[in-house]
Amino acid sequence: MGRLYRGTCKICRETFAARSPANLLSKMSKHRWKKHEKWMIRRIKEGQAEALLNPSVQDFVSALKEGPRAALKVYGDFTERQYQSIKVMMDALEAILPVELVASWKAIEAFHDIRKGI
Ligand SMILES: [Zn+2]
Repeated sequence: MGRLYRGTCKICRETFAARSPANLLSKMSKHRWKKHEKWMIRRIKEGQAEALLNPSVQDFVSALKEGPRAALKVYGDFTERQYQSIKVMMDALEAILPVELVASWKAIEAFHDIRKGI
C-alpha cells in the first residue's frame, strides 16, 4: 500500500484521496466540472483560471502567455512527474483557456513527446 494523497474541494468541502498527485488533481478536476460547472465557468470568465492551479503551474501559465519560448524555459525545470500533473490540469482547462495560451501549450506538449520519443 503506497501513501494516499488527499485533497478537499474548495467549493463544497468534499474530500478526495488518490494514489498519486496527478490522479488526485484529475479526480478533483472531474468533480469540479461535474458538480460545479457554472462556478468553474464563472471563475474562468473572471480571468481567474490561474486561481485553480497550484503556484508552479501558475508560473508556467504566465510563461505560456508570453509564448512557447518563455514556456519552454520553465518547462526545462520540470520533472516528468510535474509535467504529468500539469498536463492533467491543462487537459481539463484547455477548452476554456485563451487560444494563444493553448497554442503555446501544444508546442510544449509536442516538444515533450519528441524528447521522450513518443
Ligand atoms: Zn465540490
